[in-house]
Amino acid sequence: MTGTPVRLDLSSPSRGPRGKPPKHFVDLTPEQRVEAVTELGEKPFRAKQLATHYFTHLTNDPALMTDLPKATRDKLVEGLFPQLLTAHRTQTADKGTTVKTLWHLFDGAKVESVLMRYANRTTLCVSSQAGCGLACSFCATGQLGLTRNLSTAEIVEQVRAAARSLADGEVPGGPTRLSNVVFMGMGEPLANYKSVMETVRRLVAPAPDGLGMSARNVTVSTVGMVPAMDRLAKEGIPVTLALSLHAPDDELRSELVPVNTRWSVDEALDSAHRYFEVTGRRVSIEYALIRDINDHAWRADLLGEKLNARGRGWVHCNPIPLNPTPGSKWTASDPRVEQEFMARLRAHGIPTTIRDTRGSEIDGACGQLAAEEDE
Ligand code: SAH
Repeated sequence: MTGTPVRLDLSSPSRGPRGKPPKHFVDLTPEQRVEAVTELGEKPFRAKQLATHYFTHLTNDPALMTDLPKATRDKLVEGLFPQLLTAHRTQTADKGTTVKTLWHLFDGAKVESVLMRYANRTTLCVSSQAGCGLACSFCATGQLGLTRNLSTAEIVEQVRAAARSLADGEVPGGPTRLSNVVFMGMGEPLANYKSVMETVRRLVAPAPDGLGMSARNVTVSTVGMVPAMDRLAKEGIPVTLALSLHAPDDELRSELVPVNTRWSVDEALDSAHRYFEVTGRRVSIEYALIRDINDHAWRADLLGEKLNARGRGWVHCNPIPLNPTPGSKWTASDPRVEQEFMARLRAHGIPTTIRDTRGSEIDGACGQLAAEEDE
C-alpha cells in the first residue's frame, strides 16, 4: 500500500435500487441443480436436461423443451428460471456487426452488453456491476457510482442471449458461435469477485454444465485490485488478464485511476507479472491514450522500462485511443502521437497493438457504457 488513503466504495451501493436478484438455475452448482429439481418433486435427471437446454440449446423457453412432459417443464422453468434480464433497447453499428443491448434488471437497475462480430471471432463485452465504484475520471461508467453487483446468472444471461442471437443468425454474416467473452462492460469484475468467478466457471465448464468456452478466450479486465488478481491467479482457470494501467507513474495514475492510491503502479505490475508466472498467460496492459495527458514519449519509455524490469515475453500492450464521454474535456491523442507511443513500446521489445475500437457512435465503446436512456 502506498500514498494517502482513498475513500472508495468498492462493495456497498452508493445509490439506486437495492436488492438481491432471484436465485436462478445458473447460480446453482450441478449438485445444487439436482437438489432444486428434486425439491420441486421431479426426478434428478431433469437437472441435466435443463442444463442441456440452457447451455447447449441456449434456451429457457419451456415450449422448446419437448423432451420433458409439458407440466414438468412449466413447473421447472417457473421455479428455476426467473426472468432476470429484459432487453430494453438494442442499437447497432458497423453494418449490424456491433450490437449494444440495454438490459433492465429485475429491480430497475440497468446494464449494457456489446456484441462484436469480427472475421474470425465474435466477442461479447459483458457488465459485471450496475455502475461502478472506482470513479476513473475518463470513464462514463465510473461517473455513475455503483448501484450494485450483478449475480452470476445476471452475467451469464447476457452471454446466453448473445450466443443465442448469433446461433439464430441475427447478426449479419450467417449463424455462428460466440468465441470470446471480455469483462470490459460496466463495472469492476474483481470488485464482484465471487459472481464473476462463478460466471467464469459456467463459461468454461464443458457441456452440459456450462458453455464449454476456452479459458484463454475469456478476458478479465481490472483496474488493478492486487489481492483479487493474486487470488485469480490461483483459481486454476487461466483466463486472460488485462490490467487497465493508463499511466506508468503514480502521480498521474492516481489522478486517472483513483484506486492507484491503494495499489500503486509497481504493485499492480508485480501482481500482473505473478499472474503470468502462475498461469503462463501473457498479460495485457490497457492504456487509453489521452491527448497531452498520458501520451508523452517519455511515458511510453517509462512503461517499456517498467515492463522489461519484470521480465521478457510476459506482457503485451494494448493502447486505445480515448473514447469521448459526456462532460469530459479530454480527447484522444493525435494519430501521429499514438503511432509514436506504439513505436517506442515496440522499440523496448514490447509487443504492442492499438486496440480496435467499435461502436463509439452508439456509445458502445470502452468507457462509454452508461445505460443512458434519455437520448
Ligand atoms: N473496470 C474494468 C473493466 C471495464 S473498462 C477495468 O477498468 O479494467 C474496460 C476498459 O476500458 C478499461 O481498460 C478501461 O480503463 C477502458 N476505458 C474506460 N474509459 C475509457 C474511455 N473513455 N476510452 C477508452 N477506454 C476506456
